[in-house]
Amino acid sequence: MKRIALLGATGSIGRQALEVVAAHPDLALCALASATSPLDELAAAHEVQEVQVGGDLVELLERAEPDLVLNAVVGFAGVPGTLWALDSGVDLALANKESLVAAGELALAAWSRGGARLLPVDSEHSAVFQCLEGRARDSVHSLVLTASGGPFRGRTREQLEHVSVDDALAHPTWSMGPKNTVDSATLANKGLELIEAHYLFGLPYEAIEIVVEPTSTVHGVVRFRDGAALAHVGFPDMRVPISYALTYPERRPTPVPPLDLVGLTLAFDPPDVDTFPLLSVAREAGERGGTYPCAFNAANEVAVTAFLAGRLPFLAIAELVARALGEVDGAPARDFEDLVAADAAARRAAEGALQPA
Ligand code: NAD
Ligand code: MG
Repeated sequence: MKRIALLGATGSIGRQALEVVAAHPDLALCALASATSPLDELAAAHEVQEVQVGGDLVELLERAEPDLVLNAVVGFAGVPGTLWALDSGVDLALANKESLVAAGELALAAWSRGGARLLPVDSEHSAVFQCLEGRARDSVHSLVLTASGGPFRGRTREQLEHVSVDDALAHPTWSMGPKNTVDSATLANKGLELIEAHYLFGLPYEAIEIVVEPTSTVHGVVRFRDGAALAHVGFPDMRVPISYALTYPERRPTPVPPLDLVGLTLAFDPPDVDTFPLLSVAREAGERGGTYPCAFNAANEVAVTAFLAGRLPFLAIAELVARALGEVDGAPARDFEDLVAADAAARRAAEGALQPA
C-alpha cells in the first residue's frame, strides 16, 4: 500500500488525483490539505485520517508520515511541502512548479540530502522525464518544452489592451486552476516551466527551447547527441502525468483513450515574446540565478492576483513583474528564512508598483 499525502486536494490537480487514487486499491490517501475549502466530505469519502485546512503543511506531513507527497498547492505556499519531502527522503510528485522555481538551489540541496524520487506532474516535465528514462545524461543535446500559446495566441499587443479576466480564463486545450490559466495566457507559465526544467533535469538554459504547439498533443521532446529526438505525445489530460507519478515506475490504465494519429495536424512556431514578454523575463531571471527566479514567481503571483481582482490590465502583468525584478537584489538564499525574505521583498516591490501614482 502506498500512502499518499495530497496537498491542494480541492484544486484542479487535486480533484483529478483523487480520481486516480480511487482507481487503484494499492494507493491510499493518508493526508489532505487545502487553503480554505472544507475537507470533511472528501476525508469521509476517501477515509483519510489527517486533514488540514490552512496552517502549517509540514506539521501535517510529519503527523501523516506519507510514502509519497503529491504537491498540488498553487504558488509559493507549496515551498514548505516540497522542501520537507525532498529533505526527508520521501518521494515527491510535483505539480507545484512554483516551489521548485522559487526554492531552486535550496530544493536541489534538499533533494540530494534526502535522495528520494522527484516525479514531475507538470505535463511537459513528465513527458521529458519519460523521454530521458534510462538515458545517459551526456547523451542529451537539448530539450523542447511545448506551449499551447494560450487563449491569446496570434493576438497583437493592441488586441490585448482590453481583454477581460474571462477572456484570459478561456484556455483552448487545458482546464486548470485560475492562476495557472492566467499564467498560460501571459506565457509566464512557460517561463516558470523553463526554470522548473533547468532544476529538474540539470540542463543549462540555452539547452531548453520553448516552442508553440497549439493542440497540446506533443508535450515535450528530448534531442540526443546522435541526431535522434524522442517526443512524448498524447491527449491533453492531466490524469496521465498524475497517474504516472503516483504509480511510477508502472504505467497503469487510465480512462484516457489511445491517441489517434489519423487526422492530426501538428504545427510548431516560435513563441511571440514581443507580445508575451514574461517568457523572456523568466529566462533572464533564471540565467541570473540567486533568488531572481523566486522574485519572478512572487511578483507574478502578485500581478496575477491583481489581474484576477480587476485591479490590473492584462498587459500590465508583465510590466509589473519586470519592474519588481528591477528592484530586488537577487542575492542567493542560504536557508528557508532567506528565501521567505526574498519572496516577501519581491511581493513588496510588486505591490508598491501596483499603487496608483
Ligand atoms: P487550483 O487553484 O485549482 O488549486 C490549488 C489548490 O491548492 C487548492 O486545493 C487550494 O486549496 C490549495 N492551496 C492553496 N494554498 C494553500 C495553502 N497555503 N495550504 C494548503 N493548500 C493550499 O490550482 P491547480 O490548477 O490545481 O494547480 C496546482 C498546481 O499545479 C499549481 O502549481 C499549478 O501550476 C500546477 N499545475 C497545474 C496544472 C493543471 O492542469 N491544473 C497542470 C500543471 C501544473
Ligand atoms: Mg505544464
